[in-house]
Amino acid sequence: MAIQTNGSSDYLNKIPQIKFTKLFINGEFVDSTSGKTFETIDPRTGEVIARVAEGGKEDVDLAVKAARNAFDHGPWPRLCGTARGRIMMKFADLIDENVEELAALDTIDAGKLFSGGKAVDIPQAAAFLRYYAGAADKIHGATLKMSAELQAYTLREPIGVVGQIIPWNFPSSMFFMKVSPALAAGCTMVVKPAEQTPLSSLYYAHLAKLAGIPDGVINVITGYGQSAGAAISSHMDIDKVSFTGSTEVGRLVMQAAATSNLKVVSLELGGKSPLIIFDDADVDKAADLALLGILYNKGEICVASSRVFVQEGIYDEFVKKLAEKAKAWVVGDPFDPTVRQGPQVDKKQFEKILSYIEHGKREGATLLTGGKPCGSKGYYIEPTIFTDVMDNMLIAKDEIFGPVMSLMKFKTIDEAINRANATRYGLAAGIVTNDLNVANTVSRSIRAGIIWINCYFAFDKDCPYGGYKMSGFGRDFGLEALDKYLQVKSVVTPIYNSPW
Ligand code: NAD
Repeated sequence: MAIQTNGSSDYLNKIPQIKFTKLFINGEFVDSTSGKTFETIDPRTGEVIARVAEGGKEDVDLAVKAARNAFDHGPWPRLCGTARGRIMMKFADLIDENVEELAALDTIDAGKLFSGGKAVDIPQAAAFLRYYAGAADKIHGATLKMSAELQAYTLREPIGVVGQIIPWNFPSSMFFMKVSPALAAGCTMVVKPAEQTPLSSLYYAHLAKLAGIPDGVINVITGYGQSAGAAISSHMDIDKVSFTGSTEVGRLVMQAAATSNLKVVSLELGGKSPLIIFDDADVDKAADLALLGILYNKGEICVASSRVFVQEGIYDEFVKKLAEKAKAWVVGDPFDPTVRQGPQVDKKQFEKILSYIEHGKREGATLLTGGKPCGSKGYYIEPTIFTDVMDNMLIAKDEIFGPVMSLMKFKTIDEAINRANATRYGLAAGIVTNDLNVANTVSRSIRAGIIWINCYFAFDKDCPYGGYKMSGFGRDFGLEALDKYLQVKSVVTPIYNSPW
């Protein structure tokens, strides 16, 4: 398969100038203490886009000091919620004014579709800010009548200084999924974007300052996980760490929290999500959904439907349709508006996916489509579908995080539920059926944080999602996400002049 570009050089106009490459600490862009920098690479070509400051432990210390000072003495936690919300709204407006540039930054840094960035990721970033800005003045406690002589009320207070460690697959949405509820709650924070995709986070730091977010409230430390990330999770003066990334690193974050100051931890981790398609489904639509479920964002999405179970009555027809559609799926330069799949984020991820594909072939699964890299440069991989997959094969068990689907046949609803649940993960699941009883039974039986019936990736800021089992704990999105950044204090007082 050849990769596609639209043949024009129009996209060259979209490639943004790189304006921000330094750490953002206490409202200023600064070099790292060590003076070190690292390369960020364009996955379309494998070429260097820019060198970015490499933050280490000393820089994390400085950022935490700024965040602590802003929390203990600064205006942000003390502002009324309405005032915090107003500044967050301004921040969102500034994002709207820079949509093209921000989308282009994520395209060159992460290989994401430019059209998708403009239509989804960047507007979603602003939408998160506005949603939580609206909640900032609605954070209430409760009034409690305890006994005849006592009354109490609860305060919901910001948890303090937060470490936000984020992955590379949705650099903009992830940033605001975490930063927005923390801002609304009145927290201050140190954000560490993934080393593969530091550019848009630094731009957001600049916009935060323009919007009037006080110095020290948002600090951004670019750098590697083992150094900057580990310094956050083991820091003695960070009150909470909110982590999104792999299950392996999530475990390290939790260990570091346990052996440092017992900071509160929330983890949004990996997945191996099932999509279950029943005999009564419209085969054409179901094939579209299955393909989108694995190929959206080139399969680099934690909730990808990487295990597709199809009931035996429609299996053969489904396989035929799916193969036709996968072969017509356009892979190419993510600036090209006709392209549906760009390059994988980096060489490491590209090689990891290809090695899983080789493993699948060796294990005896059959390649229905794809299976190879495409193009002469960059990290593009063909949409890859395996049939004859057994549940115990590595490709059916491990999170591949790429455009690789394992397709499996089932007979009964019980079999589908059991096999769908036979995974250490529990992030998401999809069901395609017109039978309400089947939909209800399956959605209540699958152990996962979000279930989509006759749709997939139907995310909305109002709707909480997060993991069961080894996909983590804590919820992003919705008002539930606010709770992660708040803690409850009880204040008790006698009603009468009782001897208490
Ligand atoms: P990763 O775990 O390698 O890295 C995530 C972040 O953690 C990065 O910022 C990285 O620098 C940092 N990090 C790495 N080592 C660290 C350490 N020892 N201590 C502290 N921080 C460290 O994950 P990734 O490759 O960036 O992202 C892919 C993974 O993220 C996949 O498993 C995917 O499923 C998961 N993910 C989950 C969700 C979700 O909401 N559940 C969303 C997106 C991605």
